[in-house]
Amino acid sequence: MYKLSILNSARLIRGGIMSSRSVSTLTYIELDRNGQITSSALSSLAASRKLGDSIDALILGANAMKAASDLISSGNTNNLEKIIVAESPIYDHTLPEYISPLICELMKGSKYSSFVMASTEIGKNVLPRIGALMNTQPICDITMIHNKDTFERPIYAGNVLATIKKDGGKKLITIRASSFPPVVEGTPERIPIEKYSYTPEKDVGIRWDAENLVTNKRPDLASAKIVVSGGRALKDKKTFDGLLGSLADVLHAGIGSTRAAVDSGLCDNSLQVGQTGKIVAPDLYFAIGLSGAIQHLAGMKNSKVIVAINNDADAPIFQIADYSLEGDLFEVVPELTKKLKLMEKN
Ligand SMILES: Cc1cc2nc3c(=O)[nH]c(=O)nc-3n(C[C@H](O)[C@H](O)[C@H](O)COP(=O)(O)OP(=O)(O)OC[C@H]3O[C@@H](n4cnc5c(N)ncnc54)[C@H](O)[C@@H]3O)c2cc1C
Repeated sequence: MYKLSILNSARLIRGGIMSSRSVSTLTYIELDRNGQITSSALSSLAASRKLGDSIDALILGANAMKAASDLISSGNTNNLEKIIVAESPIYDHTLPEYISPLICELMKGSKYSSFVMASTEIGKNVLPRIGALMNTQPICDITMIHNKDTFERPIYAGNVLATIKKDGGKKLITIRASSFPPVVEGTPERIPIEKYSYTPEKDVGIRWDAENLVTNKRPDLASAKIVVSGGRALKDKKTFDGLLGSLADVLHAGIGSTRAAVDSGLCDNSLQVGQTGKIVAPDLYFAIGLSGAIQHLAGMKNSKVIVAINNDADAPIFQIADYSLEGDLFEVVPELTKKLKLMEKN
């Protein structure tokens, strides 16, 4: 069904035998649509290091080999024993029906005590299936690692922090990327790359057809350092794009929204921040014309600095904002954008 072959046996050449400790962590390295390593993958590596075991990285897709070389040359390889690549275009669309059995096969009966990936759309799609295949309860969306058996994760829209302990058995973990700063680049090391070949079942009951993506040139919402978010008060799509877009451009920010803004057709649902949207923790978060519902706060309350603009002095968002600006957004936002543009010029 599967086989491992060593492509770059740097450690074999140097050390005679390849060192491998008795337990280790398998970490999924997520690639973006262009085959580049995502920042959430580097957060997964950072979290894996906290488990204290050696780490093997897993990269899937047609560009897996190139991504493995990129990872090595970036120097983000501290604690890494090896990189396993499964180089096939069938993994490019990250269909969980293909990925889950492969990871399950790698985990079963192996030295791996833990599997770690980020709690992204892919992670949320894949990990429960691996859990079902391995008959193991996943530990999802963790924000802190106390030790290799004990983890913390927010529940009830972030109002309660649950401490979860799992003794023994294999651990299947997703991490909240915003809680684990990505590993920083270091000196490139020689890390072995192993090719993994796995033959999926012929008919997994699903096939990739097409995708219709809403793209923009702004920083990705999930990893942007500054996020400008708008709510229902922005009225319509033209106003949302015009007012928030201009402010985001001058700040080089990503754009977010509330669910009410999405439901009212103001913007695409990929912009939704919150319990049922993206979880972000940028350095600076602008909350504009949004009330601060608990489900929205669940996705942004860990932002370092929160600026709220609202014309209602009692809006709940003011309770968590570092800077509160009570006023009409249709006056305040153009004024702010104008001043920032002037500052940028000078
Ligand atoms: C199960 C569940 C999951 C949910 N998940 C999410 C989620 O992931 N993300 C999310 O965001 N929501 C989510 N919601 C919806 C959430 O409960 C709120 O309904 C939503 O966040 C409200 O969006 P809003 O703040 O844009 O709208 P509103 O609550 O209507 O707030 C609009 C705000 O704009 C202000 N305003 C109006 N005019 C102006 C003006 N001219 N200038 C300045 N301010 C002005 C008002 O004072 C008000 O505070 C979820 C709800 C449920 C039940």
